[in-house]
Amino acid sequence: MDAEIIAIGSELLLGTTIDTNSAYLARELAAAGVNLFRKSVVGDNAERIAQAIREALARADLVICTGGLGPTLDDVTREGVALAFGRPLEFRQDLLDQIRERFSAMGRTMSESNRRQAFVPAGARAIANPRGTAPAFIVEDPMGTVIVLPGVPYEMRYLFEHAVLPYLRDERGVTDVILVKTLHATGLGESVIGELLADLMQQENPTLGISAKQARYELRIGARASSRAAAEALIASAEAAIRERLGPHLTGDAPLAETVVRLLQERALSLALFEGAAAAPIYRALARVSGGLDQLRGLVVQPLAGPVDEAAAAALALTGATSAAERWGCPLALGAQPASEPDPSGLTAVCVALVTPEGSREVTRRYDLRQPEGWEFVATLALDLTRRYLLGAPA
Ligand code: ATP
Ligand code: MG
Repeated sequence: MDAEIIAIGSELLLGTTIDTNSAYLARELAAAGVNLFRKSVVGDNAERIAQAIREALARADLVICTGGLGPTLDDVTREGVALAFGRPLEFRQDLLDQIRERFSAMGRTMSESNRRQAFVPAGARAIANPRGTAPAFIVEDPMGTVIVLPGVPYEMRYLFEHAVLPYLRDERGVTDVILVKTLHATGLGESVIGELLADLMQQENPTLGISAKQARYELRIGARASSRAAAEALIASAEAAIRERLGPHLTGDAPLAETVVRLLQERALSLALFEGAAAAPIYRALARVSGGLDQLRGLVVQPLAGPVDEAAAAALALTGATSAAERWGCPLALGAQPASEPDPSGLTAVCVALVTPEGSREVTRRYDLRQPEGWEFVATLALDLTRRYLLGAPA
């Protein structure tokens, strides 16, 4: 079964509300084995909603809409769906009774505008909404099926789980399982990773998708099968192939900073930091991980006071780390020191040193620090140096 999602609400187009409903629905549909080919967002306008639904049904068997079922006149999803199928809206006494009951259960009286919510396109199947006032509904038609859910996220989720999934399983024979596993890698250029994994990326099942962010890569393996065990087996085979090809560049199942924090926790090790720039990139990367700062024993941030070339920066990174290790009596210390000026191409040499009981490891790379994201590369470099040491891998 192929599906599309349409999120409805002018606030989504204005950017004042982030469309988290579509992301939820996308994950849930994937887990249920439904192919999702497209997501779209339309404003609260009946004509445009109808057009979006017709276009989606020309491509997909199932369209899930969310939003615009409220009692006010600007919520026009009901009208839009009716228009898409060329059906009139039909008043349903049973729905009005449900809505009225919900209000009296809350100790409130229903207002006249809630009557709007008792209308559904003729022939639609209503889905009771115990979490809110707006009933959801399903329209089954030769054109295809449209399921309409409210926009309030917790109502939408509740109805998806308790009404839509059972409907898809029991009445639409949706039984496939799609599993996704994400691996993380660093230390290779994007084109190199792309070449190493080219054949896997062209495969249909399991699929492999790569996204890159500041020298860190997310590798998403997706597998589809008729059972969880079979999908897991497909993932395992792709994962084994990726491990073999990327070796130590594969940093784990979690993002790099998280992996390093977990490794430090497992080994009951703490870290001292010397940051030779006010941007303090390593500190900031650790601070973003839950529990990350618990592994940090001490921090020195000491921006440069004068000109420093690459060789001097390397020396400062090492002495900074060494003195931080001594000051806090820490077995491990990281020092990062950029040179004071970029080279003519705009790249700045950044020296990172890791001091350990077995000696020090040092690396120098060049990054564009004129962009704020440039500092993230520094954190990635330093954390990967630490990860490799903790795993006993070469620098
Ligand atoms: P109800 O009738 O239960 O109020 P509704 O269908 O009328 O639901 P909307 O009026 O469109 O829903 O939106 C209700 C709330 O849900 C709003 O606060 C809106 O910001 C939020 N919301 C709507 N659509 C989404 C979405 N796609 N993702 C996240 N939040 C959303
Ligand atoms: Mg709305």
